[in-house]
Amino acid sequence: MAGLYIHIPFCTDKCFYCDFYSGNQLYLLEDYVDAIVAEIEFRSNYLINKEINTIYFGGGTPSLLNKYHISKILKQIYKQFRVISTAEITLECNPENISDLYLSEIFNLGINRISLGIQFLDDKILNSFNRKHSKELIFNALDIIERSAFDNLSVDIIYAVPGISNEDLLLTLMLLLNYDIKHISAYSLTVARNTRLFWKIKKGDVVENTENSFIDQYKIINNYLILSGYVQYEVSNYAKNGYLSFHNLAYWNQLPYLGVGVSAHSYNLVSRQWNHTNIKKYIRDIKGGIIDFEIEQLTDIQIYNEYIILKLRTIQGLSYTYIQDNFGMDVSNHFVSRIEVLKNKNHFNIQDDYIFPKQDDLLLADYLAKELML
Ligand code: SF4
Repeated sequence: MAGLYIHIPFCTDKCFYCDFYSGNQLYLLEDYVDAIVAEIEFRSNYLINKEINTIYFGGGTPSLLNKYHISKILKQIYKQFRVISTAEITLECNPENISDLYLSEIFNLGINRISLGIQFLDDKILNSFNRKHSKELIFNALDIIERSAFDNLSVDIIYAVPGISNEDLLLTLMLLLNYDIKHISAYSLTVARNTRLFWKIKKGDVVENTENSFIDQYKIINNYLILSGYVQYEVSNYAKNGYLSFHNLAYWNQLPYLGVGVSAHSYNLVSRQWNHTNIKKYIRDIKGGIIDFEIEQLTDIQIYNEYIILKLRTIQGLSYTYIQDNFGMDVSNHFVSRIEVLKNKNHFNIQDDYIFPKQDDLLLADYLAKELML
C-alpha cells in the first residue's frame, strides 16, 4: 500500500503560531491546480506497482479548493494510480469554508473524510492567534457536517495555549464530544521561530505556558478521550474503533508516499525527497516540464532511527523480529542491549514480539527514542 499527499499552500491570512509554508496569493490557485495535475502525471512512476489506500489534501487551507479543482486533481490521480475502492480520501477544512452545498459537492466527488481545523473553542484566543473563524462558526460547521453524508470526521485541537485553563480545556472536550467525532488530533502549542507568536512572547506580550501545565493538559485530554471510548494510537492521535487514520498510519508504518505540490515531501523506502518552497517558481517550473526538488538517499542507520522515532510514538511499538530481519546483527545487538537497560527503568511493556512504552511514558517517547537510536 502507499499514500498520496497533495499540498495546498494557500491561506487567506497567517495564523500567528503557524510556521507551515503557505501564502495568500489566491489569484494563483487555478494555475497551481493545473501544476498539481501536471506533477501527478510527471511522477506517476514514483509509486509504481503500489496500490493507493490514502489520498490526503493538506495545507495551507485545502477547503479553498472548489469542486472543479478537486475534481480535476482526483481525476488525474485515478488516471495515473491504482486507488483501492476503500481508500481514505481526506480534505482538511477550515470551519469558515463549510456549507451544506460544499460538503455535498465534495462528497459526490469521492472525498470521504473531513479533517476540521478547530484548534480552540474560545473567541478571545481564536482572535488573538488571528484564526479566521469564531466559536459560533465552529459549531455551525459541526452541525452542517453532522447532517451531511460524511461519517468520518476528524478534528484538530491545540492545547497548552497561553490563556486556556484546565477547566476551559475540559469544557472544550465536553462540548466537542456532543458531536459524532471519529478521530481527534491534539497537539501542544509549539512556538516556532519567526512566527508572530514567537515575537509576541519575546516582547513579553504573551506568556508561554510552563512544562507542568503542558503535562497536566496532556493528561486531561488523554483521560477524557480514553474514558469516552477513543483509542490513543499515537501520542497525539485518538480514534474510535475502525477510524484510525490510514494517512497517519502510512507515515508511522514507513509505507511509501508521494507528496505533490510546493514543499511536499515524498518517501519510497530508500530515499526522501522534497519539492522547493515557492509557489510562483513551482508553477513556472512545472509549465516548463521541471520539478525542482532535493533528494536524500537514506542509509540503513537513518531508516532504523526513523523506525525507532516513529514506532515509539505509537501503540504498536517496536518489533524485535522486524529489527532483526531488516537491520542486521550489529543494529539488532545494539537494540537488544539498550532495551535491556530501559526495561530495568520500567518504561516498557512487552507483549510477544512487541515492546512499547507504558501509557504514562508515551510522553517520554522522544527521550526513549534517543536512548535507542544509533
Ligand atoms: S490556516 Fe492552518 S496553515 Fe493556514 S496559517 Fe492558519 S494554521 Fe497555518
